[in-house]
Amino acid sequence: MDRATPTAAALEMAAPDAPLESHELIRYSRHLGLTEVGEQGQRRLKNGSVLIVGAGGLGSPSALYLAAAGVGRIGIADFDTVDVTNLQRQVLHDTASVGQAKTESARARLTAINPLVRVEPIDEELTAANALEIVAAYDVVVDGTDNFKTRYLTNDACVLLGKPNVYGSVLRFEGQASVFATPDGPCYRCLFREPPPPGLVPSCAEAGVLGVLPGLIGTVQATEAIKLLLGVGETLAGRLLLVDALRMHFRTIRVRRDPDCPACGTRELTALIDYDEFCNRAAHESDVGPHVPPPPTMGVQELEPRDLADRLRRGAPIELIDVREPYEWRIARIEGARLVPLSTFGAMASELPRDRELVLYCHHGTRSRAAAEFLVQQGFPRVWNLTGGIAQWSADVDPTVATY
Ligand SMILES: [Zn+2]
Repeated sequence: MDRATPTAAALEMAAPDAPLESHELIRYSRHLGLTEVGEQGQRRLKNGSVLIVGAGGLGSPSALYLAAAGVGRIGIADFDTVDVTNLQRQVLHDTASVGQAKTESARARLTAINPLVRVEPIDEELTAANALEIVAAYDVVVDGTDNFKTRYLTNDACVLLGKPNVYGSVLRFEGQASVFATPDGPCYRCLFREPPPPGLVPSCAEAGVLGVLPGLIGTVQATEAIKLLLGVGETLAGRLLLVDALRMHFRTIRVRRDPDCPACGTRELTALIDYDEFCNRAAHESDVGPHVPPPPTMGVQELEPRDLADRLRRGAPIELIDVREPYEWRIARIEGARLVPLSTFGAMASELPRDRELVLYCHHGTRSRAAAEFLVQQGFPRVWNLTGGIAQWSADVDPTVATY
């Protein structure tokens, strides 16, 4: 496999003055008619390069559209092979490529779409040792990762190198996208400071995702990458796109750079970190969302929102704990709750009272169930999980609580 060896390749591509040849003018004619693209923009795409981290559900549509659009160099970083369970959403691969390296399958498909594009397979795992060298070779990064280890590595490498990081994640019926690590915008760590403690994520087994959802989010990522290369429009930098495919709701919320962010704020993070694996590689499948909900666990009792409301009305001594992230807290919260985000939960847990009943909630009740299980393991005697999370609370108890 030829590993991307950057600068030389990048310089070789950079011939901005060379006019497009006639077969290129024909191929890209629908771009040339757009004043925002035109021949100048098409040459920018041709001289541009994008690294796609992960040739899975998100990376697939991104890669297909970036190749079709004529992005000159596309790096595909993945060290997995195609499995038949991938085909439900990873549209870059097909039945005949089951068992092949994903990078190989990707190269064949992308070259078939557009032979003018140079596809660079990077058939190795991104690590603290190689991520800076790999990321440095590209103009824009598309984060299509399926695990926290690579997601934090990708973010930190982009911040350290000043490369825009087009983020996407999907889980079940929900997805998110943003553009991180631009000169003024926030980075992934501004939203999710640290990966959740390994004890909180017992396994990533089969979280599940609607197959078309990564198609939707990955296409958004391709759109953002193309806009970044062209330098047109308004990107998602400083905004987080939230998609709920079940209700087909799209919304964007403002996200700001956190001055205390160790990556892009204080800049105390000066080297990459290899976090421990959170999932065993056997479960290294589906695309995971932010702070993946683990499967249902035993030992934690469930509390229905209506029952919680009754008990609160009767003045029961309950400590209500919201384990979502700060940006979600800003969208909506249950009155009287205290915010202890999952990303800092491990450190904060010892400060929680042991003499009161603790009721934990999150968006839909899965992250809080993991946190509750963690507390039970730490010896907390009375821990409840709010069934269905704040979404169910809004539906059953208090419709003035905003849904998202
Ligand atoms: Zn940051």
